Amino acid sequence: MLELASLSNLLTQPQQIVITTHHKPDGDAMGSSLGLYNYLIQQGHHVKVIAPTDYPDFLSWMPGNEEVIIYTEHTAETAKLIAAASIIFCLDFNNLSRINEMGELVRESKALKVMIDHHLEPEDFDDYRHWDIKACATAQLVYDFIANLLKHKELINADVATCLYTGIMTDSASFRLPNTTSAVHRVVADLIDAGAINWRIHELVYNSASENRLRFLGHCLTDCLEILPEYNTAIIAVSKQDIEKYNVNTGDTEGIVNYALSITSIRLAAFIVERDDKVKLSLRSKGDFPANDICKKYFSGGGHRNAAGGQSTDSLTNVVKQFKLILPDYKKLLIQ
Ligand code: 5GP
Ligand code: MN
Repeated sequence: MLELASLSNLLTQPQQIVITTHHKPDGDAMGSSLGLYNYLIQQGHHVKVIAPTDYPDFLSWMPGNEEVIIYTEHTAETAKLIAAASIIFCLDFNNLSRINEMGELVRESKALKVMIDHHLEPEDFDDYRHWDIKACATAQLVYDFIANLLKHKELINADVATCLYTGIMTDSASFRLPNTTSAVHRVVADLIDAGAINWRIHELVYNSASENRLRFLGHCLTDCLEILPEYNTAIIAVSKQDIEKYNVNTGDTEGIVNYALSITSIRLAAFIVERDDKVKLSLRSKGDFPANDICKKYFSGGGHRNAAGGQSTDSLTNVVKQFKLILPDYKKLLIQ
């Protein structure tokens, strides 16, 4: 493992830097990546942010967004950048499988790999790690990395602050999850002081839905929501036909699971959606119910205690059946 002093020293010279994050990037993935990007470019580094796949419009406004390269749309160019990099920052993921085919390119690259992340059980592929599962967002760790480890708080300008605020806001469900500590609020206060316009960021992320998205949400809640009162669990299962009918775009399904979780008695909510090649599950829970445990054990996934995901190659009907069959094992925790 590389020492902080060596990494800090390396960063005093211009480097060829790649920043990457997990596939289907969310607000924390893009916010932490672009926050770090806007910091590093101030020091004369050559920096490229590479997203493994595309991401929704409500995340496409952050400073530096126009410089992001999407791997699936520029495969050859990104492969060259990864091979030629001297440092690769891996943000908001800790297992190379989370960046799809890019994983092997990163593994093979001679670049130094720096992981900044807050997920459980990191894979051992990195040379330097700033990792803390207690952090509410990777963006919080990027703030800590810049301000406290590299001691460059003065370089957290309005662009850096805007991106990091977005990461913290989205991953903490707007400062509502249990890991939104007083320390997080102090970081957020610093980001506002540095120029993040908090009310505008909320507008851009949360009040920018399309009409399709709203009608699709209505359909999910009226026609697809199933409540299992004996398990305090709610399921929203959506077929591929519905996805096509409502012309659902990347990101349009984001957050729908939280509506199911907002019902008073519900402790576990599942959004189960049939995609082209697989069925994807998004689980959310309240309190100490381990949603990630279900994803890890049964659906080749993982995540955090209150927000986790996984997938299956089985049919939608079978995945819903399987999910229901798992619930008796968790009944004690669900009916507390
Ligand atoms: P979402 O429901 O938004 O897709 O995912 C919620 C969280 O679960 C993500 O932030 C990520 O930590 C985790 N997650 C989602 N899908 C997977 C997966 O396939 N594998 C793993 N290990 N974690 C996942
Ligand atoms: Mn995150």
